Amino acid sequence: MSPKKIIGIDIDGVITDETHINDNIWHDALCNYLGYEIERVKDSYYFDEAYNLPLEIINDFLEKNIATIYANAKLAAGARETINYLYDKGFEIHLITAREPEFETLTRNWLDKQGILYTSLNHEEDKAPLAVKKGINLFLEDNAYNTEALASCNISVLLFDKFHNRHIRENKNIIRIYDWTEARKMIEKIYSL
Ligand SMILES: [Mg+2]
Repeated sequence: MSPKKIIGIDIDGVITDETHINDNIWHDALCNYLGYEIERVKDSYYFDEAYNLPLEIINDFLEKNIATIYANAKLAAGARETINYLYDKGFEIHLITAREPEFETLTRNWLDKQGILYTSLNHEEDKAPLAVKKGINLFLEDNAYNTEALASCNISVLLFDKFHNRHIRENKNIIRIYDWTEARKMIEKIYSL
């Protein structure tokens, strides 16, 4: 029997396209903010580590740029088609993002502009407890911490490959994928669509 059609999806790095390490919206904005081309020195999820910059500089950069970055984020290829296909097939689509709640309206507007259909939008950094509460049995995520927490709650994770999550090993609950074409194939297999 297929599991209940309830899935969770992260936004940044999953629905949005951040594919290129030194050529993405965050990197471009940081170079712009600093006024010079900076190179990433470490494959870290955290900007201060990744760029070897003081946290105060990163926090000031984020404070001044994050709303613009969210508002102008690029949609990942195939994301809309797959999400809307699932929505039309009767899936509950719970978007769970670590973005601060103050960005909810901005995020809803962006999703509307992109034509993405969803059941709920949730701003929550620690995703596993909420995912359990909602009965989510499959989660599309790129964050390492949340992936391991979800998997330990027996929720399957399609882990979107990123330089900052390469240390995560696949197991029965964690499947590494590289794009939405692969995500769709896996989802169709899991739910026998
Ligand atoms: Mg993410």
